[in-house]
Amino acid sequence: MKTKLLGKSPDELVAAVSACGLKPFVGRQLADWLYAKKAVDWSRMGNISKAAKARLQQDFELGTAPPVGSAVSSDGTAKYLFKAGDGRYIESVVIPDEDRKTLCVSSQAGCRMGCKFCMTGRQGWHGNLDTAEILNQFVSIPEASELTNAVFMGMGEPLDNYDSVSRAIEILTAPDGFGWSPKRITLSTIGVLPVLKRFMDEHRCHLAVSLHNPFPEERLSMMPGQKAWPLEEVVKLIRQYDFSGQRRVSFEYTMFAGWNDDKRHADALIRLLGGLECRVNLIRFHKIPDFPYECAPALRMEEFKNRLNNHGVVCTIRASRGEDILAACGMLAGQR
Ligand code: SF4
Repeated sequence: MKTKLLGKSPDELVAAVSACGLKPFVGRQLADWLYAKKAVDWSRMGNISKAAKARLQQDFELGTAPPVGSAVSSDGTAKYLFKAGDGRYIESVVIPDEDRKTLCVSSQAGCRMGCKFCMTGRQGWHGNLDTAEILNQFVSIPEASELTNAVFMGMGEPLDNYDSVSRAIEILTAPDGFGWSPKRITLSTIGVLPVLKRFMDEHRCHLAVSLHNPFPEERLSMMPGQKAWPLEEVVKLIRQYDFSGQRRVSFEYTMFAGWNDDKRHADALIRLLGGLECRVNLIRFHKIPDFPYECAPALRMEEFKNRLNNHGVVCTIRASRGEDILAACGMLAGQR
């Protein structure tokens, strides 16, 4: 199998072309085509000579691949299906919102975290995406040049595939890569502790933590990851970082009727997060098959939100997008 060029840093592209006996500037041209111009095939790379392309194609492939399926929601949200490795499929979602276009990126085919309310978790883990497969979601969609933000909130736990995700973030934020500011990127995790510390130290992107229940036993009943990485420890770690500047931390809280939506939960959240510069996002639960809970009623969510806000914890209810095409939170299954 040939090595993929997508997923190599600009410096690695220079090294790769040099190893082929080509001039180093061809590596810079490649980085410009792949990352700045989002060129997904050789024919667009007009300033690279035919001979240089032919030499590179002996050893390398670009690593780009178009989506194999797509669907568009009545609210404008678009979902793309990609083939990732042998018989595996992953999905990405583009969410347009006023002047923004946010890509919800997948980092794994399936997920081994096993959260019970999540369609991705239910299918188990089928493999990690490499950096090229992660970046391909940015460059091979029709909206490639219009994306303003990205959230690592698609299929998979990004901190369970940290090396590939971290490399993708490096290329996204490198001035001679995509050139994105880290504040355009948010990584969402259930709190994979030792790796979370690495992410916090090595990158300056925003963080979102899937919280969903402040009580350890209750959280554990739906999120097996709570056992290895207790929420209290996660919050303790997060409190060591500064969120008064550009970096933000948010806590995702999907609301289930009768499981995590009463005053007891709101008050425990206020105790857990009090004094931390953060935001709690309440998310409507989207019904999935064979799962006993319903979404909390709208009034209940409003009361919950107000209780948090009245006690100094900033809280908003996040608009649901793409539910009709199974693209909303917790619904991605990577199915053809
Ligand atoms: Fe994995 Fe996230 Fe789904 Fe949990 S919610 S199973 S971490 S994809």
